[in-house]
Amino acid sequence: MSADYVLETQNLIKEFKGFTAVDDVSLKIQRGHIHALIGPNGAGKTTVFNLLTKFLTPTSGRILYNGHDITSLQSAAIARKGVVRSFQISAVFPHLSVLENVRIALQRKEGNSFHFWKSEKVLDKLNDRAVELLESVGLGNFAGAKTVDLSYGHKRALEIATTLALEPELMLLDEPTQGMGHEDVDVVADLIKKVSKDRTILMVEHNLHVVSKLADQITVLQRGAILTEGDYETVSADPRVQEAYLGV
Ligand code: ADP
Repeated sequence: MSADYVLETQNLIKEFKGFTAVDDVSLKIQRGHIHALIGPNGAGKTTVFNLLTKFLTPTSGRILYNGHDITSLQSAAIARKGVVRSFQISAVFPHLSVLENVRIALQRKEGNSFHFWKSEKVLDKLNDRAVELLESVGLGNFAGAKTVDLSYGHKRALEIATTLALEPELMLLDEPTQGMGHEDVDVVADLIKKVSKDRTILMVEHNLHVVSKLADQITVLQRGAILTEGDYETVSADPRVQEAYLGV
């Protein structure tokens, strides 16, 4: 284990009733990188994410975070250690304001979900931090807006803000640009680039334009196993990757 890797999986396997969805996957996520996990539908990307966050238990294999074995930890403990998946806490409350949603995420970080216990001073501090986070994701002008009224791109930015509230060292993004038009895709891609300055990001992303723009390293999965790895140029030139995407 090198200190360069924030997360490693060693021979990770997940079987569902004899079907191997994740087949001996050994990943190395380099600190500070944006690492993309790509591959055709059914390749096992979501299952890998579910294993990393303990939504699923591996059949065998190990997960190391900063060199420590976290395979047996539960989801909440993994998140507390700094591995945070965006949608985990993006169950944003649609009828609360944008600011309130970030404040709730900040309180969750402190392990206390009830703000009526808190002194005014503590609440002021939470508020200031929430405003700061909103500004950092370009939502400074939307603090008072109802979450339900945000555009799709802005909702994603809010999800990223609520994820940042948990101060992740490794942020897992699950198809961050899914279902977006070109403009929102570019805004969210720029935002990911920006937040990656202070942390490592592992993302599942279908949009290869986004992958080419953001990813330092790419792992291609096919039928549960790693097909190849490398930067965008290397991976996209690999005929096996082209075949996998054509479903041949
Ligand atoms: P991807 O995210 O790359 O599209 P998934 O990880 O969702 O792929 O799925 C990989 C394979 O595992 C698929 O064939 C899928 O049908 C299967 N699979 C995923 N979850 C389950 C489950 N809970 N039970 C049985 N099979 C599953």
